[in-house]
Amino acid sequence: MTGPLIAETLIPRMEGRAFEMLAGQVLRLVAVEGKQVGDLTASNLHDHDEQMNVIFSTTMNDRSVSHVRRVFSGAPYFNEMLTIENDNHGVHWLGGRCNRFLYQAMGAPDHRNCHDNILEAVAPHSLTERQVQLDTLNVFMNVVYEPGGTFTFEPPVIEQGDYVDFRASMDLLVAISACPNEGDLRGEINDYVAKPLKVEIYDA
Ligand SMILES: [Zn+2]
Repeated sequence: MTGPLIAETLIPRMEGRAFEMLAGQVLRLVAVEGKQVGDLTASNLHDHDEQMNVIFSTTMNDRSVSHVRRVFSGAPYFNEMLTIENDNHGVHWLGGRCNRFLYQAMGAPDHRNCHDNILEAVAPHSLTERQVQLDTLNVFMNVVYEPGGTFTFEPPVIEQGDYVDFRASMDLLVAISACPNEGDLRGEINDYVAKPLKVEIYDA
């Protein structure tokens, strides 16, 4: 159950946006144009040193990096930050995110990337890059693990209009990047075309 819709934002393709959330509010991430990954990170709205942590969140989700129900901050806080409520497909990835160094290695040094998208989005909130680690919930991302521990990326299993709801367990600054991977540059992550995403915020 959510309260009334209080804000709505379209994240343009290949860009990022940040959202302030109060405890109890719900952020709905909608795949408005179909198969598209959103790279989500979160920090305490009142203490930006407290950030989401992938390893601890994995531990707290029965050691699953895919079927994620709760997102936590790391040491020394160890707080629940978000819970996932409506999630028809339940395929995500607790991991990292694309960044300028990865694109440099792929021969596209000036390509937009999720890490810089998120840095741009949180800059008005005075976060430094040191306060924005690579820990990410890659919403809708379909990662397939191989024997031996390597993994590959497959197109998301979602369809146009699918969404997932995140309820804030505490006051948060949440940043989301519409991942710019497309074409030959790990395009399978977004079914080969980068698309926009929509965010709706509902009151508690
Ligand atoms: Zn990305």
